[in-house]
Amino acid sequence: MTSIFSKIIKREIPADIVYEDDLCLAFRDIHPQAPTHILVVPKKEIPRLSDAAEADQALLGHLLLATNKIARQLGVDDAFRVVISNGANAGQTVFHLHLHLLGGRRFREGGLARSL
Ligand code: 5GP
Repeated sequence: MTSIFSKIIKREIPADIVYEDDLCLAFRDIHPQAPTHILVVPKKEIPRLSDAAEADQALLGHLLLATNKIARQLGVDDAFRVVISNGANAGQTVFHLHLHLLGGRRFREGGLARSL
């Protein structure tokens, strides 16, 4: 099945694209949860992180390094958060793997549990 993110990758629907390379595309989330809220999406359509295989090892590393690059490009590299929701019960709504890059505001202190 073609995901909405694949349609963005194929330029069938518009998005505010901030970064692209051979393996991934990054664009602004339509409902931002922070001043900078970017979705980093592999061009390969992997539905969930848990669907990734050994063969995707380099791709998964690439997504993190691309996220670093984008954070630098957008000036939020000093403090940002990366979130992946895996599965509907974890809040995943689009079943095409994506990393949320969130920055530009202060996140709650005191550990992850208090911020969820
Ligand atoms: P999830 O809930 O699966 O972790 O994240 C999906 C994200 O995609 C949500 O934050 C949602 O706002 C965003 N989103 C859903 N549809 C679109 C769209 O058509 N364009 C953009 N730019 N973001 C979208």
